[in-house]
Amino acid sequence: MKKALITGITGQDGAYLAAFLLKNNYQVFGSYRRSSSSNFWRLDYLKVSNHKNLSLIECDLNDQGSVLNCVKKIIPDEIYNLAAQSYVAVSFDQPYLTSMTTGLGALNILEAIRHTNKNIKFYQASSSEMFGKVLETPQNEKTPFYPRSPYGVAKVYAHWMTINYRESYDIFASNGILFNHESPIRGLEFVTRKITDSVAKIKLGLLDCLEIGNMDSKRDWGYAYDYVEGMYKILQHEKADNYVLATNKTETVRNFLTYTLDTLDFNYVFEGKNENEVCINKDNNKVICKVNKSFYRPSEVDLLKGDYSKAKKELNWEPRTDLKKLVEIMTDADYQRNKSGTVY
Ligand code: NDP
Ligand code: GDP
Repeated sequence: MKKALITGITGQDGAYLAAFLLKNNYQVFGSYRRSSSSNFWRLDYLKVSNHKNLSLIECDLNDQGSVLNCVKKIIPDEIYNLAAQSYVAVSFDQPYLTSMTTGLGALNILEAIRHTNKNIKFYQASSSEMFGKVLETPQNEKTPFYPRSPYGVAKVYAHWMTINYRESYDIFASNGILFNHESPIRGLEFVTRKITDSVAKIKLGLLDCLEIGNMDSKRDWGYAYDYVEGMYKILQHEKADNYVLATNKTETVRNFLTYTLDTLDFNYVFEGKNENEVCINKDNNKVICKVNKSFYRPSEVDLLKGDYSKAKKELNWEPRTDLKKLVEIMTDADYQRNKSGTVY
C-alpha cells in the first residue's frame, strides 16, 4: 500500500485529496498544525475522518525540525504540500507570515526530503496568482510570472525552489499551477463561498445584504473535486514537471453572483457603477448586494484564464464541471446548511 503525506489536511484541497487517495487504496497521513480548537470539519463533511487508513499527525510548516521529524517518521512515497497561508487579502496584512508558511514552508519539506530519502515524490501547490498582472492570455506553463500580492510572491519562491531541487538533487518534484477551484467546503472568506452562503442566507431571511469588493475581476473557476485528481496524476507521470490545471474559461465576480441569484430564483436588477453599484431585489425593492471598498485590494489581479492543454495531453486530465454546475452545487449545499442551522 502506497503512503502519502498531505500537508494542509484541514483545508479544502487537503480534505478532497485525502478522500481521493483513500478511495485509491493509499495509506494517508495528514499533517495539521496545533490549534486550541479542533478543525477537522471538512474531513467530517467528506466522511473520511474515521477511515482506517487515515492518520493525523501534528506538524507546523514553519518549524523545520517538526517537518523533518514528520517526514522521517513516515517516509511516504509521495508528499503533497497543500499547506499555506492561502488567502491573498490577508497576505497584504501579514506578508512576513505568508512568506514563511507559503514560501519557506515548501523549502522545509524539500530539505527534509533531501536529508531523509530522495525517492520521495513531491507535489507543490503552485498558483495562478503567480501570473498576477498577466503578461499573456490564456496563461500556460511558459507564461512569465508577475505576482501582485505577498501571497503570489511567496508562491513564486516555492515554485522555483521546487524546480531547483528537481534539477540540483534529482528529486521528483512537480508543480501544479492551479487556477481557482472551489467547492461547498471552500473557506467562507473567498468570494465564491461568501456569495453562495450570503445569497442562501438572504433567501432564507437570515441576512439583508451581501457586501462585496471588486465585481469586475475575472477568474477561471473550477471544482476542487476535479482538481485533486489532477494533483495525483501529476505525481504518477513518468517525469517531474510543471502543469497548469484550469478550465480555460473566465467569468466576472458579478457573473458568479448572477448565477447564484438565478439558482435561488431571485428577480433582480443591477444599478449604478463601480463603488456605487447595487443589486436590487425587484420583488421587494430591497438592496441585496452593495459594494464595500474595504474589500478592494491594494493591487488586484484583474483576469485569470488558464490553458490546461499540456495536462490534457500528457496526463489525460480535464475539468469535468462547468461554472454553472459548480455554482449550483455550492448554492444548494449552502442553502441546505443554512436551512438546517449547520454552521461551517
Ligand atoms: P486552505 O486555505 O483551505 O487550506 C490551507 C491549509 O494550510 C489548511 O489546512 C491550514 O491549516 C494549513 N496551514 C496554514 N498554515 C500552516 C502552517 N504554518 N503549518 C501547517 N499547516 C498550515 O487552502 P486550499 O485547500 O484551498 O488550497 C490548498 C493549497 O493550494 C494552498 O497551498 C493554496 O495556496 C493552493 N492553491 C489553492 C487554490 C484554490 O483555488 N483553492 C488555487 C491555487 C493554489 P489550518 O486549518 O490550521 O488553517
Ligand atoms: P483569489 O483569486 O485567490 O484572490 O480568490 P478570492 O476568492 O479571494 O478573490 C477572487 C476575486 O474576487 C479577487 O479579484 C477579489 O478582489 C474579488 N472580490 C470581490 N469581492 C470580494 C470579497 O468580498 N471577498 C473576496 N475574497 N474577494 C472579493
